[in-house]
Amino acid sequence: MNELNIKVKQLLSDKTIDVFIGYGSGTIGRIRAIFAKTPEQAELLIFQEDCTQNLAGYLLKHEVRHLGKIGILANVAALRSIMQLASEFQIKDNEILALYVNPDGTLKEFSDFKSIENFLESLNTGITSDEKEMIRRLEAMTVNERWVFWNQEFEKCMKCYACRAACPMCYCHRCTTDVNQPQWIPVASHELGNLDYHLMRAMHLAGRCVNCGECARACPMDIPLNLLTYQLIDPIKTGFGATAGMKSDAVYALSTYKPDDKENFII
Ligand code: SF4
Ligand code: SF4
Repeated sequence: MNELNIKVKQLLSDKTIDVFIGYGSGTIGRIRAIFAKTPEQAELLIFQEDCTQNLAGYLLKHEVRHLGKIGILANVAALRSIMQLASEFQIKDNEILALYVNPDGTLKEFSDFKSIENFLESLNTGITSDEKEMIRRLEAMTVNERWVFWNQEFEKCMKCYACRAACPMCYCHRCTTDVNQPQWIPVASHELGNLDYHLMRAMHLAGRCVNCGECARACPMDIPLNLLTYQLIDPIKTGFGATAGMKSDAVYALSTYKPDDKENFII
């Protein structure tokens, strides 16, 4: 057994936590999330190079939350998700215990928000150079070219909502897409309804996206929809001085109002 299994076994044995969300072996050699509730189940946990999923997407799921105190194997994206969820009053301090695997394989333990904030401050949390290049290409397009590009991408969407299920920031109990009185977003997968869904999704995540990329990874149609929310990171930072997922007490840029707010974006 390695350090992770021993640590989680001990946390479950002494009841510090009631469940631990980590990675395990799935079918056909794929990695999947597992939920260890007993010391014996802690032995099923693994950690290897392809354990990259942002497991924070499970933190607010009812089926997990009611199990008691949660421990989680958190990568940087998951730690940022915890910060963002804290700033949105979805989790309280000391409610989650996070373990992080250092590059040398040793473990770091976080039991409060402050320690996560301090750790994140010391890291480069930006998007990858490949993603930067794709955003640069999008920004170099004319408005018409960009419109055509996204419409072609959204045409592929079959409204499975895997992107919504995978996103740690999509936690509303009743999503606008599911409301049918009135029907805000058409149920069928067609051009107009798909555009409605993706514009609504991008606006709801503006300034809240922690650039984990899970939405794009979950998409069976390979739509790079994380780029839409990534594109909004810089404008929110420049306009409101806010970066998602870095502080537990950050104020969400689009939900606050000041009388002297700049209004030069209104045309
Ligand atoms: S929008 Fe996509 S990249 Fe952003 S937090 Fe949600 S899943 Fe992660
Ligand atoms: S995961 Fe892909 S296909 Fe499914 S709703 Fe999201 S964008 Fe559409």
